[in-house]
Amino acid sequence: MGTIHKTGCVLCAQNCGLEIEVEANRIGKVKGDKTNVKSEGYVCRKGLHVAYHQHNADRLKYPLKKVGDKFERISWDQAIDEIANKLKSIIDQYGPRSFAYMGGGGQGCHFEVPFGVRLMRGLGSQYQYSALAQEFSGAFWVCGRTHGKQYLHDQPDVNNTDVLLVFGWNGMQSHQIPQAPRQLQRLSKDKDKMLIVVDPRVSETAKLADIHLQIRPGTDALLLKAMISIILSEGWANEDYLANRTSGFDQVKSYFENFDIRSALKTCELEFDQVREVARLYATRKSSLRYDLGISMPSRFAVCSRPMSCRKKFSPIIPRDCGRFSSPV
Ligand code: SF4
Repeated sequence: MGTIHKTGCVLCAQNCGLEIEVEANRIGKVKGDKTNVKSEGYVCRKGLHVAYHQHNADRLKYPLKKVGDKFERISWDQAIDEIANKLKSIIDQYGPRSFAYMGGGGQGCHFEVPFGVRLMRGLGSQYQYSALAQEFSGAFWVCGRTHGKQYLHDQPDVNNTDVLLVFGWNGMQSHQIPQAPRQLQRLSKDKDKMLIVVDPRVSETAKLADIHLQIRPGTDALLLKAMISIILSEGWANEDYLANRTSGFDQVKSYFENFDIRSALKTCELEFDQVREVARLYATRKSSLRYDLGISMPSRFAVCSRPMSCRKKFSPIIPRDCGRFSSPV
């Protein structure tokens, strides 16, 4: 029997609490930590298999130098000296802008970035790339416009929402909120709450949904415009919120007036009555929104990621009884 240690999984940004058994410097049994206030014992299969990553035979544990077509183990001193000399000679020959840092993964792609950024600054280069820039540049930009800082992101308060509207997010597989599968199943089983999924695919999350809008791919922005037009024309918008907590609404209002909603929804391949009901539920009940890669990769992500969100300074439409967001995270 080894020693039990409490720790956190670093394989994604949820950082679920783990209890791991360590014996002879090796991880043995792993289970969820029920005392962790965020994950409450939840752990997915990746977290249960942290030992696979920690003790993997292919894991790089010391410097290797390619000699001919083989790799040979060298000391850290030799590795650091040789790499430093090579970097200096590249700067001398081609200048500091010949360097770019490409990294990321796990943890929202930020785990090793401080080291990479400092290395680039030390070398004199400003180029740094990661998977995050590919997936979420629109989200960061919009967060900067709505929260004042690009790194202030919001999350739906799933525990306190009555209607969770999901755009292009398959939380049953991808997580992205604490205990996502557990939370989605709870929501789906609760007769007083609703899970609404917008996704062209019948995803694992869509299978749990009370309403699944199986939208034509790439028409998310059109659906959102139609929903906003419906909410405005039906008088479901929160006028007090618009007056006191937003700016610029009059500048965008006309965009949603005299809009041919039915034709737009035909393009989306959705039924008007069903979309109207989704708009009514979202606008009149305590609701929140979660979007993800399904709409964050296409070109209209900045348009899609915010128009239905609550508490946003530039939000053009606010449901009457909007759910709370646990922002910033
Ligand atoms: S959801 Fe899975 S991968 Fe993410 S932190 Fe929790 S156990 Fe790790």
